[in-house]
Amino acid sequence: MPDTNATPAPNADVERERLKSLINSMGDGVIAIDEQTSVVLYNGAALNILDINKSMAGTPINEVLHLIDKNNQPIDIRETITNTKTSTASREWRLLYPDKETVNLYISIAPVRLGYGQEGMRGYVILLRDITREKSLEEERDEFISVVSHELRTPIAIAEGNVSNALFLAEKNGDLTTIRESLKQTYNQIMFLSGIINDLSTLSRAERGKLNVEIESINVSELVQELVANYTPDAQKKGLELKSYLDPTLEVLLSGRLYVREILQNFITNAIKYTEKGHIVLGATTKKGGVEFYVTDTGIGISKSDQEKVFDKFFRSEDYRTRQNNGTGLGLYVTMKLARLLHAEINLQSEMNQGTTFSIFIPNLR
Ligand code: ADP
Repeated sequence: MPDTNATPAPNADVERERLKSLINSMGDGVIAIDEQTSVVLYNGAALNILDINKSMAGTPINEVLHLIDKNNQPIDIRETITNTKTSTASREWRLLYPDKETVNLYISIAPVRLGYGQEGMRGYVILLRDITREKSLEEERDEFISVVSHELRTPIAIAEGNVSNALFLAEKNGDLTTIRESLKQTYNQIMFLSGIINDLSTLSRAERGKLNVEIESINVSELVQELVANYTPDAQKKGLELKSYLDPTLEVLLSGRLYVREILQNFITNAIKYTEKGHIVLGATTKKGGVEFYVTDTGIGISKSDQEKVFDKFFRSEDYRTRQNNGTGLGLYVTMKLARLLHAEINLQSEMNQGTTFSIFIPNLR
């Protein structure tokens, strides 16, 4: 007996409509092409990705899909497609627009039969997805790992060398002054490592939006004097003078003490790192609604084009004098994140070979 409850077989038109709406609801671009690689079917997402606003039906695929490889060499998409025997996919190519803009693409090519049974014409289905954002996150992660591991390796190697030297001398009842010097070097490197780890942990909390400001009343003069006292030994080691300037009208500042301190520390350590001779001034002046701090140095300076980039993640100037110093390019990026949290505004003035001034206006938060 025939099954009367079975859904009647849809006619071809209904089925085509269903298929069309299914393909059109997909977020990925879909293009079906025939054996001669001309477009037979496509969806709205494909038009969006390819940035085309007219019908593609019947157009040869190589006229609408311009791809380049990692070395910016054009890819012969027709040849690639006709050589595809089983499904293949790539994440390494980029789509090239007429205005030379590019996006990273995930593309998969699958040979299919476009129709039913043996009658069905042979062809291919191409799937396209814009993966520019994913790619940039991947690149950022790779860069992060490479910068951090490089920056950790140097201090660890120095510390290791010094400790093993100290151990060797201690076992041989060697010279105490040399042992002390080796241990001091090790200590400095460990402090440097701890600075990097602090930056990383602040960075990770800032990226996850996990930082909150605990508003306290900050005695500005005390803070400035404390910082000058803490960093004077580092400055002196390089023959630099670290001075303070305090506006006599200074009162308390209502803001996040830890973050204000971290911002100023970043400016001061940079000023010491990137100055070979002269002096550094840490100053504070009263401004309407808050306090302006500044750190001025007589150092190597920052070129106009670099000034736009110093707050970018991982940015370090190509200047060889910058590269002589350790650094991750994270300090000012973290500083900017903290400044935003405090509703503060940073200004930068610099002249090559003359010096740099970073200033920051920190408003009272209550
Ligand atoms: P790092 O010091 O770890 O490289 P930062 O984010 O603190 O990273 O600084 C980014 C870059 O900005 C530095 O590599 C350097 O090129 C430049 N820079 C920052 N402060 C100064 C300064 N006071 N003088 C000259 N260049 C500076």
